[in-house]
Amino acid sequence: MTIPFIDLKAQYKLVDEAVKKGIDGVLEHGAYVMGPEIGALESHLASFSDVKHGVGCGSGTDALIMALMALGIGPGDAVFTTPFTFMATAEAIALLGATPVFVDIDPITFNIDPDDLRKKIGEIKDKRKDLKPKGVISVDLFGQPADYDRIEPLAHNNGLFLIVDAAQSFGATYQGKPVCSFGDVACTSFFPAKPLGCYGDGGMVFAQNDELHKLLVSVRVHGMGEDKYENVRLGINGRLDSMQAAVLLAKFEIFPDEVIKRQQVAARYGALLNDVDGLTTPSVPEGNTSVWAQYSVLATDSDHREELMGKLKENNIPCVIYYPKALHLQKAFANLGHVMGDFPVCENISSRIFSLPMYPYLKAEDQETIASVLKG
Ligand SMILES: *Cc1c(COP(=O)(O)O)cnc(C)c1O
Repeated sequence: MTIPFIDLKAQYKLVDEAVKKGIDGVLEHGAYVMGPEIGALESHLASFSDVKHGVGCGSGTDALIMALMALGIGPGDAVFTTPFTFMATAEAIALLGATPVFVDIDPITFNIDPDDLRKKIGEIKDKRKDLKPKGVISVDLFGQPADYDRIEPLAHNNGLFLIVDAAQSFGATYQGKPVCSFGDVACTSFFPAKPLGCYGDGGMVFAQNDELHKLLVSVRVHGMGEDKYENVRLGINGRLDSMQAAVLLAKFEIFPDEVIKRQQVAARYGALLNDVDGLTTPSVPEGNTSVWAQYSVLATDSDHREELMGKLKENNIPCVIYYPKALHLQKAFANLGHVMGDFPVCENISSRIFSLPMYPYLKAEDQETIASVLKG
């Protein structure tokens, strides 16, 4: 038996009946788009997240685009974010014609560094009269919350909105509060490999504010007004399918238990790997929880990483680098004019990081095998 990187089949065995029943329900009532499952899921997940509104949508990427559209972002606007994230975070900003302004990361959490955020906001205000600072998108990388005690006031005291990109962190908490309760808007993804995944694409936007909620609902369906065929602004087709919502309703039943299991798996890794020479295991600041979308470790340098990943591959243990090339160095963002050296912490981390198999049903014996291969 080889160890999978993420075992969705083990999970399916636990929910197959509920999933099939949910999908059958959609087939029976026939409201394939915006069926009753959407509202049910929105209210379940909003209440789980301790936030007033949830708006189901087509993907995590759509969630970010809808949030930025609802907040009125466009050309000439600067939105601060991290270069150490999945493409979608900065792509959404650029797709709306706004300018992503990258901020270096914290070397422990790999999330946006509040000190560098303060510095970059100041620089844009002083030196870039062509840009209007409008907002911040923080990312809870690998499932661990960003530093909201510092980021939220920094954003708001500078007149900026905060969008929480919780695509990897749905189910995590910051100082006891669910991550999607932070920010003006929080966005998550239900891509199958995310902590709460469906069987296709899906996402959700969360907001506390009633006006923002109305805007998000409008933007989700082509900027509709009170009437479906009245369009009062531009929007997108950003709807979530009823079938994916039915899948999520079934999977949500076991999600709280899976979050606990993920934390147990991560704790076991921590204990097993703490004496691997030169390996740094992830740590989560006191008072916060991660949902461990990835279990990512650091080698001492890129040669050491190659050596460790080589050992895993020889033993058929899958491992992946998230992310080998930071966004400021991607061709798609060449127009921003960044060079190697612009974000030293991010570049250093991306040359040393790699992720190990991680899922709630990962067995202790498999983790022991992984640890012994890394030590060997
Ligand atoms: C996955 C992901 C997204 C995009 O979600 P999709 O559902 O794949 O569109 C956005 N941001 C981050 C940090 C992600 O990991």
